[in-house]
Amino acid sequence: MSNHSYDVAVVGAGVFGAWTAYQLSRAGAAVLLIDAYGPANSRASSGGESRIIRMGYGQDSIYTRMSQSSFASWQELFARINRPQLFQQTGVLWLAREKDSYCEATLKTFQQNNVKFERLEQGELKRRYPQLELDQISWGILEPDSGILMARQAVQAVVAEAIGSGVAYLAAAIRPVDNGEERQTTSQSKLESIWTTSGDEIVAGKFIFACGPWLPKLFPGLLGGLIHVTRQEVFFLGVPAGDDRFSSPGMPTWMDINELIYCLPNLDNRGFKIAIDKHGPQFDPDTGERIVNPESISAIRTYLTRRVPLLAEAPVVESRVCQYENTSNGDFLIDRHPGFENAWLVGGGSGHGFKHGPAVGEHVALLISGSAKGELRFGLATKEQVQQRKVF
Ligand SMILES: Cc1cc2nc3c(=O)[nH]c(=O)nc-3n(C[C@H](O)[C@H](O)[C@H](O)COP(=O)(O)OP(=O)(O)OC[C@H]3O[C@@H](n4cnc5c(N)ncnc54)[C@H](O)[C@@H]3O)c2cc1C
Repeated sequence: MSNHSYDVAVVGAGVFGAWTAYQLSRAGAAVLLIDAYGPANSRASSGGESRIIRMGYGQDSIYTRMSQSSFASWQELFARINRPQLFQQTGVLWLAREKDSYCEATLKTFQQNNVKFERLEQGELKRRYPQLELDQISWGILEPDSGILMARQAVQAVVAEAIGSGVAYLAAAIRPVDNGEERQTTSQSKLESIWTTSGDEIVAGKFIFACGPWLPKLFPGLLGGLIHVTRQEVFFLGVPAGDDRFSSPGMPTWMDINELIYCLPNLDNRGFKIAIDKHGPQFDPDTGERIVNPESISAIRTYLTRRVPLLAEAPVVESRVCQYENTSNGDFLIDRHPGFENAWLVGGGSGHGFKHGPAVGEHVALLISGSAKGELRFGLATKEQVQQRKVF
């Protein structure tokens, strides 16, 4: 490796690294993409079956606009590679309480950004979705064009496209870059190379670290306290035989934002998916055991008894343990490393990053070429040690 120099080495082939490598290569750079376990592997945050793409973000319109632009890029990619089924247009429904500042702000953002939506009053919700009990729900917002990205397959498709456009791919694990000491200095030097755990040196002009929940392991001194990795559980429940009320289009994807729960219809016959968005306990992405807790199963059954009684006793047919890599408030981390003028940190997806892969990749490509300024909200300086989630 040491005798081959690339313009850019991207470490991490999750959704952020894959799109970044792809966009850089399309812009003409010689790119090396490296991953320890493979694109969208079982441990990666991007490794799930499905991820929601929605435009609603309350008052955080920056993410609405990124989602709009990413949506177009995903669609364009899937059309070009002739795999339109990697996006499933289920619609995304927001369940709102009578006074609901998040959903009210979402409506405003939709109007300002020309997002297609329908406001549905309780009667209309009941008529369209008789499978849902509307306990505490007074109205809703439907994003008819939004839906689900088939996550793992989509990332693998981006990596295949990236390789097709000239990106070199290397299966290797990169050693930690900082030695665990907190950096006090703001003076910048150049990062000449990085090293794999098997002792190969990788030389490149610029380095991008898109290592998701592993970022604190590569930079324990800098990011140890700034990215909080939490264990998150996902359940797939078997739907009743011959019953299409839990499949699209009978059931949309829906967000019960006030209860921090979201659900997906039965896609690809994997079952009805339900997940708890509340942050779980701390988790190690390498060594963490990925077996769900029985208490979580009872919690989702208690919830379903109120919201979808027909599925309250449905069997768990599959489950997954994944992790969020949370910044203090949920804003992404996309910034230059304070100690290296030619290294950038890209992560902090915080449980909502997947959909934004294309916009993140595009932003990073412009950022490192000097054609765009960093977004303040993504800056390292705005990240705190104490968790106070603001972006949902
Ligand atoms: C249960 C769950 C549900 C979610 N739901 C949604 C959703 O509905 N919509 C949405 O938009 N987002 C959602 N997200 C968030 C989204 O999945 C993440 O924000 C996104 O996948 C993060 O991507 P990433 O590329 O930053 O990280 P990752 O996908 O984790 O990729 C990092 C990669 O870096 C590699 N790596 C790490 N260390 C090294 C090393 N030392 N050397 C080489 N390679 C290394 C890893 O192997 C990995 O492949 C969800 C997340 C979870 C866990």
